[in-house]
Amino acid sequence: MLKEFVDVLIIGAGPSGCVSAAQLFNNNIKVKIVEKTKFPRLVVGESLIPRVMDHFAEAGLLESLESMNFEKKLGARFIRGEEVCVFDFSKKFTKGWDWTWQVPRADIDNNIAQEIIKKGIDLEFESEVISISFEGKKSKTIAKDKKGNLKEIHAQFVIDSSGYGRVLPRLLELDTPSKLDPHSSIFTHVKDINRPKGEEGTMISFDILETQVWLWVIPFSNGNASLGVVGPTDFINSLSENKNNSEALKNAIQLSDYYINRFGGVDFLFEPIILENYSRSVKQMYGDGFAVTGNSSEFLDPVFS
Ligand SMILES: Cc1cc2nc3c(=O)[nH]c(=O)nc-3n(C[C@H](O)[C@H](O)[C@H](O)COP(=O)(O)OP(=O)(O)OC[C@H]3O[C@@H](n4cnc5c(N)ncnc54)[C@H](O)[C@@H]3O)c2cc1C
Repeated sequence: MLKEFVDVLIIGAGPSGCVSAAQLFNNNIKVKIVEKTKFPRLVVGESLIPRVMDHFAEAGLLESLESMNFEKKLGARFIRGEEVCVFDFSKKFTKGWDWTWQVPRADIDNNIAQEIIKKGIDLEFESEVISISFEGKKSKTIAKDKKGNLKEIHAQFVIDSSGYGRVLPRLLELDTPSKLDPHSSIFTHVKDINRPKGEEGTMISFDILETQVWLWVIPFSNGNASLGVVGPTDFINSLSENKNNSEALKNAIQLSDYYINRFGGVDFLFEPIILENYSRSVKQMYGDGFAVTGNSSEFLDPVFS
């Protein structure tokens, strides 16, 4: 079997894995990423928070991201019936970024991945981690490529950034149930053909359909928008009797007085995706020879996190 030796092996090339890789690489550490899929690939998580801009800057990724002309996010709007509340990121009492971006994840994740490859980082797509064993802090990982070929990767340290793949939480039994009540979400993208001009059209908004049930609208600079509904799993399941995601999301849009005209008749660009009971937790985020980052460690809630 082919053998490779690195200082740090990273599992998963999402933002968590790629930003970690760039930071380590900038500190002269020999790093390798293995990623199960081929990019671009679709995941949820399109509304960033200003704090991530610091991480992009520190990792040397900001310039390339700026060239993508993503929609600027200056704050967020929450709507409940007649009530409208706008959070403006510039109205704050601490230093730091007061804006960020609204991003189609397939595009931003691919941009980051290609950028770190350009820097010289070894990122192997279509290579899935199937097992890891530790001897003290040193690890031996087995990765399988798309043709079924196996490879042994020896590393001094492993960073698990595998998102919902949750490689180390599964293999090392670090998983622990989330303390939050079960919540689920359904989302898709649409061509935002009825987008009003100006801020009204581009501001990220949450229409609170019921307590704990939110419809999100995330307009992108490419003319599309992300539409999603998030709420208690029982409520999400009640949106369609036959668990039809398209029907469920259409029914959620019908409940939104604010957005029914803009999105009531638009076609979905792909079959809406459901994320059931998305909260995840771990017993520990690091141990001898490993750390778990991003969604692989803990994801609580798209709003409160
Ligand atoms: C409903 C919902 C809404 C959300 N909204 C937002 C939001 O608005 N803004 C936001 O910032 N975040 C949001 N999130 C969270 C968002 O998903 C995370 O912020 C982000 O995707 C985490 O990035 P990551 O790098 O940890 O994982 P990911 O981006 O999921 O990347 C993990 C990668 O690991 C790869 N992988 C998995 N298993 C293996 C394996 N065995 N071997 C090799 N590779 C593997 C996967 O293919 C994947 O590419 C939301 C989450 C949910 C559930």
